[in-house]
Amino acid sequence: MILSIESSCDDSAISITEIATNKLVFHKKISQELEHSVYGGVVPELAARLHAEALPKILQQCEPYFQDLKAVAVTSSPGLAVTLIEGVTLAKAVSVALDIPLISVNHLIGHIYSLFIEKETTFPLTVLLVSGGHTQVMEVQSLTDIKTIAKSMDDSFGESFDKVAKMMGLGYPGGPAIQELAKEGDRKRYDFTVPLLRTPKLAFSYSGLKNAVRLAVEKSQEKDYKDIAASFEHIATKHLVHKLKKYFQTHPPKNFAIVGGASANLYLRKQIEELLAPYNAKLLLSDLQYCSDNAAMIGRVAVDMYKQGMFSSLEALDITPKSII
Ligand code: ATP
Ligand code: FE
Repeated sequence: MILSIESSCDDSAISITEIATNKLVFHKKISQELEHSVYGGVVPELAARLHAEALPKILQQCEPYFQDLKAVAVTSSPGLAVTLIEGVTLAKAVSVALDIPLISVNHLIGHIYSLFIEKETTFPLTVLLVSGGHTQVMEVQSLTDIKTIAKSMDDSFGESFDKVAKMMGLGYPGGPAIQELAKEGDRKRYDFTVPLLRTPKLAFSYSGLKNAVRLAVEKSQEKDYKDIAASFEHIATKHLVHKLKKYFQTHPPKNFAIVGGASANLYLRKQIEELLAPYNAKLLLSDLQYCSDNAAMIGRVAVDMYKQGMFSSLEALDITPKSII
């Protein structure tokens, strides 16, 4: 079995995965959403302190499995430096104490592998990653062959939901709150501009849309918020669909996946289903409980890394806060 630790942002999570079967034997996550909500976003210093409290508590519950552990895995990149270090330090301590090797896992590959929890992998795969820190399209051939096709030049898809929610005083995270509000709203009432419509460039941008929404919020009353939320969700999604459609002209999809926290968005899922229909492409989605950060996805990557002998040493394992994918 492999014990895996996740602390890249505001969720403290530990999993135990069986190597031979991919079975998730144990998974526990303590989310800090409530603590950060009053600030309208994640406060790194507070997140680090909460990880230091939560991770050892979860680890204690894993004690019955200690004798069966063959490796300890940990998210080392990307994420907040002060929170990543909490997980990495704990993983190193476990590695020394139990004399087992370390595996250094990339969080974004983790999101991709959230599709394969207790399952075999499906490759090649075109992936849309929409999370709190990233919006990118990737061509994934295998664990070690991942090519990024397009990414955001500024804010991410999920982040723009968080910021719009903050403008409306809806707390953090904003995605679920905006989705809920948008359900009752008129998607056509606010005519926000689709970002990067006139450039052929395969890239994403959400800062312009965010500012347009800010102006609309400032000029409106609370009763208009549902229409603003609906119009915003519509245009934010339309931007993704527009760029994907462009990419599909030269690279028609076969297996397509949406991953990351914001892949839980139902309007996005529906629009992507419609986009894929003419291609007869298969749409892969993670279980809703594994869209946002968790350690089960990290454990699933770790199993494949273990099988390929991809270990890290105590000296070499370090955090890389900025994404290298
Ligand atoms: P990254 O994975 O890029 O490092 P992260 O780990 O902070 O970032 P995730 O936990 O994967 O991000 O996703 C959290 C994001 O998903 C938040 O921005 C949140 O608002 C967004 N989100 C969650 N549910 C929804 C939803 N239903 N609609 C839109 N966004 C959502
Ligand atoms: Fe994440």
